[in-house]
Amino acid sequence: MITFEEAYTIMMESVFHTGKEQVPFREASGRVLAAPVRSDMDMPPWDKSAVDGFACHRDDLGSDLTVLETVPAGVMPSMKVTPGTCSRIMTGAAIPEGADYVFMLEESEESEVGRVRFTGKAGRTNIARRAEDLYQGQTVLKPGHFISPQHIAVMAMAGATEVTVSKRPMVGIISTGNELVEPGEIPSGAQIRNSNGWQLLAQVERAGATGRYYGIARDDIESTSRLLQAALTDNDVVLLSGGVSAGDFDLVPQVIKEAGLKVHFSQVAMQPGKPLTFCTGDRKAVFGLPGNPVSVFVQFEIMVRPFLNKMAGVTEKEPEIMMPLATDYSRPRADRRAYIPVIMTDRFEAMPVEYHGSAHISSFAGAWGIITIPKGQSWIQKGEPVSVRQI
Ligand code: AMP
Ligand code: MG
Repeated sequence: MITFEEAYTIMMESVFHTGKEQVPFREASGRVLAAPVRSDMDMPPWDKSAVDGFACHRDDLGSDLTVLETVPAGVMPSMKVTPGTCSRIMTGAAIPEGADYVFMLEESEESEVGRVRFTGKAGRTNIARRAEDLYQGQTVLKPGHFISPQHIAVMAMAGATEVTVSKRPMVGIISTGNELVEPGEIPSGAQIRNSNGWQLLAQVERAGATGRYYGIARDDIESTSRLLQAALTDNDVVLLSGGVSAGDFDLVPQVIKEAGLKVHFSQVAMQPGKPLTFCTGDRKAVFGLPGNPVSVFVQFEIMVRPFLNKMAGVTEKEPEIMMPLATDYSRPRADRRAYIPVIMTDRFEAMPVEYHGSAHISSFAGAWGIITIPKGQSWIQKGEPVSVRQI
């Protein structure tokens, strides 16, 4: 059995990258940016008014001024502001030549028709300088992160209507187990419903990858290897659940070896999810995940998702939120790194929820996050900061 850190390093060093593709920027949300985005213009493109008001010379702030024209956003000023004059200007409009100050409408008074006076106290110019936000040719977005709505705004502003993103990793999903029936069926006798396959599909999709479900492999070599071969042909990564422990019908390790894959590890000191098997082939990776739904959930979040992210070129670190623990915590053994479901209290503390072990997925359904308890640590005092991962 190897430690989580060793397993994580081995796994991350085996990553191969998906290629790149161009997409229209409006389809880029949730994808991973794979090439820098540069601005094709200055922003603002000219000195711009930040307020509705009057553009004048700063030296004229004490005087009555003649209003030359009104400059709305979208129209260039036609007149030069000279001593004793000003132009009425709207937010976002270009500053007229000769003006170096804009006083706000709210701080003005019409002394007579066509004449205006500043009634406030002189301070900021209320002028946004040309190119103060971006300059032409500037890299406005660097590659290596998921694209969020604010990135779409920057792309729009920069005129980047086509952007380069990483291809989505393709992930095949196989459930194993003679006891499994699909969720639409009524289990009879010794049967239970397949929850792992569908959970994994949702996790894969949430991770920005493309998931394909291959169904339930029966606990025999033929059925398992037929589905594995099909999934390996069409995908970069294959996720199997179940069949990796020491039971008589746990045939996944044998099937993986017969497929000619290289097994890097088959046991990790993690709880839940000790019997995690990780293998690679030529630009292929296979994860043999444990059978219990909580193990599947946690192993995906902790191991598979970072792997898929790195495949797609994500360079950002996995976020870690530190929160105080809402209560004392202890465990009888500390030989593995543990993950415990928690809710966030209204004082922003992490409170463990009732949790009976790795089959208890309904406990995770009510959780806000999972906390990490490092190997070797059996006791945490209330109020101590713990690392939380939102789920
Ligand atoms: P296994 O590792 O195959 O022995 O499975 C461990 C436990 O997880 C057993 O109780 C299985 O019934 C259960 N299990 C395995 N696969 C699934 C699945 N796809 N959905 C729900 N439970 C499963
Ligand atoms: Mg099984």
